[in-house]
Amino acid sequence: VEFKIIDDFFKPYSSHRADVLLGIGDDCALVKPPRDQLLAISTDTLVEGVHFLHGTSAHSIGHKALAVSLSDLAAMGAEPAWVLLSLSLPHIDEDWLNQFRQGFFQLASEYNLPLIGGNTCQGSLSIATHIIGVVPPSKAITRSGAQPGDGIYITGYLGEAGLALLALQHKIPLSSAPLAQAQKRLDYPDPRIAVGLALRGIASAAIDISDGLAADLSHILEQSQVGASIPLANLPISPLMQSIPVEKAHELILSAGDDYELCFTVPAKLEPELKQVLKCPYHCIGVIDDIPGLRILDADAKPLSLQKKGYEHF
Ligand code: ADP
Ligand code: MG
Repeated sequence: VEFKIIDDFFKPYSSHRADVLLGIGDDCALVKPPRDQLLAISTDTLVEGVHFLHGTSAHSIGHKALAVSLSDLAAMGAEPAWVLLSLSLPHIDEDWLNQFRQGFFQLASEYNLPLIGGNTCQGSLSIATHIIGVVPPSKAITRSGAQPGDGIYITGYLGEAGLALLALQHKIPLSSAPLAQAQKRLDYPDPRIAVGLALRGIASAAIDISDGLAADLSHILEQSQVGASIPLANLPISPLMQSIPVEKAHELILSAGDDYELCFTVPAKLEPELKQVLKCPYHCIGVIDDIPGLRILDADAKPLSLQKKGYEHF
């Protein structure tokens, strides 16, 4: 059965790339890394009930499982090359597998990304993707390069995925049109690969926002041994987020995960270039300083105590 799943649902749909010498079907895949580039490698697991609600559509799970891995490559400025997929399924449900497969390969084909292997077993529903990208040696964007004076930026708008989660859990009222819009952010995150590539040579540090802005920006600050004060008023609030009280919007922007936007820093002298290369909405939310740690400032410039910095897994 395991081999039938692989042959029916996965092997026929993989993109082809000349650098895949051997794809699905042997003990290992064989790929030819490009000369003079580094491999950027990451893995992510989605567990039902932890990373997605029971009853989430298989199509969106397929999309999201790949999107979260692509988002890690985006944050490093890496270009997607190959992906592996580990599936743990409670039972074989062909409809579910078809939907999952379509969501996964729809996104994979956008990047001409071949599925080169994986693993299939029985167990509670979880999906792991292992992704490999390529990046020229001096172009990888890490979390540790931010310097005092660098501007702090985020792409797009934050908090909408978190809003959808609260609404689906009936913790916040939301009518059907805005819920559908927010749920699209939760179920179909759009990894910022093009932004990551455009930021090569421009961003001094970057991270993708999977656990909330406060937590993820704090990783940059810690690893770069710098700090920042961010006035709440600097946080962009999307039209959708304007339909809820502003305090709740701020809380979601700072601490809800799942948006998969990028947070990055740019030296002041490269800001004109940033404007030239970035084709998506983005906002400057503050400036890196040399006082360690993250301070969020209220309207009176007083630091807020952040109760819940972001999603933590343990
Ligand atoms: P092994 O037992 O040697 O690890 P398997 O029999 O588990 O190999 O898998 C056979 C082939 O199918 C391997 O090439 C493996 O990478 C691939 N494969 C298994 N599961 C998946 C999956 N869910 N998606 C893509 N490829 C898979
Ligand atoms: Mg083997």
